[in-house]
Amino acid sequence: MTIINKIIDGKMYAQKLLGEIHPLSKGFLHNFNRKPCLTVILVGDNPASKIYVKNKILVAKKIDIESKEILLSSDITEDELIDHISILNKDQNVDGILVQLPLPKHISEKKIINIISPSKDVDGFHPKNFGKLFMGDPKFIPCTPLGCLYMLKHEIEDIKGKNAVIIGRSNIVGKPMASLLLSSDCSVTITHSKSTNIEEHTKKADILIVAVGIPEMIDEKFIKQGAIVIDVGINRLESKNNDNFSNKGVLVGDVKFEKVLKIAKKITPVPGGVGPMTIACLMHNTVKAAYINKKNDFINVLEGIL
Ligand code: NDP
Repeated sequence: MTIINKIIDGKMYAQKLLGEIHPLSKGFLHNFNRKPCLTVILVGDNPASKIYVKNKILVAKKIDIESKEILLSSDITEDELIDHISILNKDQNVDGILVQLPLPKHISEKKIINIISPSKDVDGFHPKNFGKLFMGDPKFIPCTPLGCLYMLKHEIEDIKGKNAVIIGRSNIVGKPMASLLLSSDCSVTITHSKSTNIEEHTKKADILIVAVGIPEMIDEKFIKQGAIVIDVGINRLESKNNDNFSNKGVLVGDVKFEKVLKIAKKITPVPGGVGPMTIACLMHNTVKAAYINKKNDFINVLEGIL
């Protein structure tokens, strides 16, 4: 297999999924005289968050989803933010609400996630949606693990019975990923910062999902020959001042790509792997929310994936 055939092209899969969603957003406009509407709330001026929000809005525009951005100062109180969300919850013309994380430290993310109406929770973080996912009856699935599953199901002929290992147990990635893989009949192991001998687990993984947030932590020693590796990590390397080499602004994943590429059967790159799929799945969830809002059947373009 050539190197190029080993790389899982997240941009290509995202275009494919967006191509499947676009007729549904156009159909919504035709039937209800408005576009599906996503409202994104950004608190403060975290540079990475600003880029993520900008990218989401750009993609929404391309596929006839209306996107509204609410920019709030970092010193907004928790109650003021809750007031904004409550207004959006009641607004019939808003289908999806996304509060970009992380929030400033004085605001409880847990409390804010709980306030968003579960039927507009396109991030899938509300406890009601989280619970439904774990019960095997998902409504809105967190976008990043959903995107990972979409690529896995297209890359692996039969995912049933595969050994899947996840590094990281966050509510955003690790835990929902475990639930999705379990529902897909994989045998699932989750490891985290307190796990001992992670390598022992990862060496048995047919599928390895890495979502840690430590640049290039996983090298070839962790990988079973022929594994499928999904690198969720997005780390921006700062410039190194101790030598003349400056790599400011370079994005890397949690996996040492060049080294792991030699051992793995397939691997996602960073950038161009999981990131574009996360945005495409957000668009999927927004159009789904719009149809649910109108009490209309949503033709699930992900049928067969879930
Ligand atoms: P969190 O910080 O919430 O979670 C990190 C997880 O990694 C925790 O469960 C932690 O364990 C575990 N961990 C930390 N250090 C180690 C270690 N040395 N060995 C094993 N496990 C460890 O991060 P997220 O899940 O939110 O994100 C993970 C990465 O994915 C980040 O780089 C983030 O930027 C990226 N990301 C990318 C997205 C995309 O669209 N591509 C979307 C979301 C995230 P413990 O629970 O014990 O603390």
